Amino acid sequence: MATYKKILVAVDLSPEARAVLARACELRAQYGAELCLIHVVEPIVLGGDYELVPVMPVEIEETLLQRAKGYLETLVREMSVADARQVVEVGSVKHEILRFAEDQGCDLIVIGAHGRHGVATLLGSTANAVLHGTQCDVLCVRVGE
Ligand code: AMP
Repeated sequence: MATYKKILVAVDLSPEARAVLARACELRAQYGAELCLIHVVEPIVLGGDYELVPVMPVEIEETLLQRAKGYLETLVREMSVADARQVVEVGSVKHEILRFAEDQGCDLIVIGAHGRHGVATLLGSTANAVLHGTQCDVLCVRVGE
């Protein structure tokens, strides 16, 4: 039987994050695993002639980071989630989730997936990219129905 020791849950800033986090908490309790929340602040990107250039003044980045940290703290407090690590990264959402999961040896990623219009939408870009970019198990929690 599969057992998980380190669960990574990816949370965006939508109300749906609660359902995703709730499922991760159930699994954490079931397996006695460590739990880590990750939120990724995506830089604003301008399309140039040759490549995409991340554009985010330091002040704005710092404001967004602080806001995201505050959001995670509030979420964890309101949902009474104890002993969970909270991480905020800057970069591409899928890359940062995958990088962190690999660096930290996570064995399960819990992520939301929208389920309104069939499989293509169910596995939206983030969930799809994470599912196909990692060796570890991925649980897609249906949200937004
Ligand atoms: P999306 O494909 O953008 O609709 O997002 C699907 C799921 O990806 C969300 O329910 C979250 O679990 C995760 N996700 C999306 N954006 C972020 C983000 N900025 N940071 C962390 N996780 C995210």
